[in-house]
Amino acid sequence: MPPKSKKTILVTGGAGYIGSHTVRMMAEQGYPLVVLDNLVYGHEKAIVNDSVQLIKGGIEDKALVESIFEEYHIEAVIHFAAYAFVGESVEDPTKYYRNNTAVPIVMLDAMQRHGCDKFIFSSTCATYGDPHYVPIDEKHQQMPINPYGKSKLMLEQILQDCDHAHGIRSARLRYFNAAGASLDGRIGEDHVPETHLIPRALMSLTSELDKITIFGADYETPDGTCIRDYIHVLDLARAHILALERLQQNHPSFSCNLGTGHGVSVKEIVDAIEKITSKKVPLAYGPRRKGDPPQLVADPRLAKEILGWEPEYKDVTKAIETAWIWIRQPHSGRYER
Ligand code: UDP
Repeated sequence: MPPKSKKTILVTGGAGYIGSHTVRMMAEQGYPLVVLDNLVYGHEKAIVNDSVQLIKGGIEDKALVESIFEEYHIEAVIHFAAYAFVGESVEDPTKYYRNNTAVPIVMLDAMQRHGCDKFIFSSTCATYGDPHYVPIDEKHQQMPINPYGKSKLMLEQILQDCDHAHGIRSARLRYFNAAGASLDGRIGEDHVPETHLIPRALMSLTSELDKITIFGADYETPDGTCIRDYIHVLDLARAHILALERLQQNHPSFSCNLGTGHGVSVKEIVDAIEKITSKKVPLAYGPRRKGDPPQLVADPRLAKEILGWEPEYKDVTKAIETAWIWIRQPHSGRYER
């Protein structure tokens, strides 16, 4: 356990997909870390560094959160813990408003009590809603079209108020489509159910799925399928460290996009997967998925300007290659299966 005098970073949801890659990268750089994760969607095995303290529990547990702040000198909170299924958010909105918006207030209250003034927040391009233009910059209006995006936008707004009222500075990082796995294939994406395009397409090649369905081929895009901006999870992880450093240097709060700036269509993803794996993806065509905007592409210039961040993996090849290695791991790949 790091002594109370030693500054420690508290990572909520650090056993999840993006959280675990960030935790591993930070641990390898020597950051003292405590992870708070209820392991509902996270995986104990995703924490691979012995130096990292994993506390099993939820951020809604006020007594637990308080005890962490009493035990450690928490310098900053990196907050990943959230639900992220758009469809589910439409079916069960209060689950999203409770977990993604209301519950983190417990953390903000504890931060205020203990004089912790830095918060890094996993926000999302879903806060923009249906874009009026692409690439989307941070000045684009935020008009989310589903409870998931709304729940994240509300926390962005709460963070602005907490900055004004209590001086808690925040980095609101708006992720585009996270993809890929660690280069050694040791950690990666393990959602149940898996809804994302790249892992689903790869699962259709390992017989975990019979086929994948392309949700809509009649969009007003060059090949008729939706365009997204796929950003490697390791690039996302690195951005969190840079965001933390910026707040440590006493810069003010900021919001910024994390994407490559390049759009890739669903069909182009399938083509790339076929090329990389030398296998044919079994495909079906279905109707559009509700709530899918035709195009979501980041303008990532602000992240470059203020964080000095640029994606190392500028095209989707590395994301597919690493996800493919991860999914075929001999320990049958994903954590608990
Ligand atoms: N998609 C698809 N079939 C699938 C999963 C996803 O056609 O089985 C499409 C989806 O409609 C979207 C794109 O792939 O246009 C990326 O979806 P994903 O769920 O990976 O990420 P999202 O953009 O929803 O965050």
